[in-house]
Amino acid sequence: MIVVMATNATARQISEVIARIRAMGYEVHLSEGEERTIIGVIGRGDPLDKEQLSMQEGVHEVLSVTHPYKIASREYHPEATTFALGQHTVGAKDLALIAGPCSVEGREEIIEIAHAVKEAGATALRGGAFKPRTSPYSFQGMGEEGLKYLAEAREQTGLPIVTEVMDPSLVPLVAEYADVLQIGARNMQNYTLLHAAGKSHHPVLLKRGMMSTIEELLMAAEYILSHGNMRVMLCERGIRTFETYTRNTFDINAIPVLKDITHLPIIADPSHGVGKWEYVEAVSLAAVAAGADGLILEVHQDPESAMSDGRQSLTPKRYHELVKKTVALANLVGRNVPTAQPVGA
Ligand code: PEP
Ligand code: MN
Repeated sequence: MIVVMATNATARQISEVIARIRAMGYEVHLSEGEERTIIGVIGRGDPLDKEQLSMQEGVHEVLSVTHPYKIASREYHPEATTFALGQHTVGAKDLALIAGPCSVEGREEIIEIAHAVKEAGATALRGGAFKPRTSPYSFQGMGEEGLKYLAEAREQTGLPIVTEVMDPSLVPLVAEYADVLQIGARNMQNYTLLHAAGKSHHPVLLKRGMMSTIEELLMAAEYILSHGNMRVMLCERGIRTFETYTRNTFDINAIPVLKDITHLPIIADPSHGVGKWEYVEAVSLAAVAAGADGLILEVHQDPESAMSDGRQSLTPKRYHELVKKTVALANLVGRNVPTAQPVGA
């Protein structure tokens, strides 16, 4: 249930409504918009009388949210959620262009690619230091050493860092170095990790599980949001279907659907979505056209020798070409690439 307060509701009226909800055994989540305050009723308590609540002073209306996700829903927060990522804002007009290797492979390597993606127009750097690999015998990432190299790359380029955290106990360590905590597809329903990310109040990039529905993705986001951490970006990274030609099937539908039903920014990951670099550009442009708030792409200076996901990694040159096309397309769909060179430069 959601209690929408009147535009002129006083602080006293708001706290009285909160007190009443709490007295019935619920938690509340406050969303103080520019226009009005909305109170989300969370948890399980005694049955709430909607009529009685709507009669309280300062209440505009009481809405039952029909979806299981509440704070993530558009009804709860009609305006798009926006927040800073480095020098730019995610979720508004600017597209977030997150790029970098699948894994941090070494100090020189990550610093070199950070400069290359920045040069090509990226607004943030990605790179995994803790890698979720299908095989325990594959490269597992450089761990804390990798995080240190990422921080050094940020110092040199100014690009904020997006990197994965796989274990709740490692959230404080990863948060010390990262600007955004990435929760990977395999961990989308790792509830202890979602709670830990929520408590950290660090921005989170939450990837859709490869066999998860859109609603399950939003329920996973709800775990983070329920701690009051509203800086969550959702990431469509492809789902498993009967098709085997591509690594996954990028669910383009998810983008307009999510834009409709949630206020959270949506980032597209065509690298994992298709798994072959030659299709990454087409799907990236499609995702921007469909309304994505940004792209997270794998870029490697020498994809053939990459320690993970080389097959889907773009070279810096190909990434630059993609960014240039994204700039042209962004104009058409009312978006902006904040790092775009002025025409003729
Ligand atoms: C990654 O970003 O490199 C990654 C492991 O992604 P996903 O969790 O989507 O498979
Ligand atoms: Mn990868």
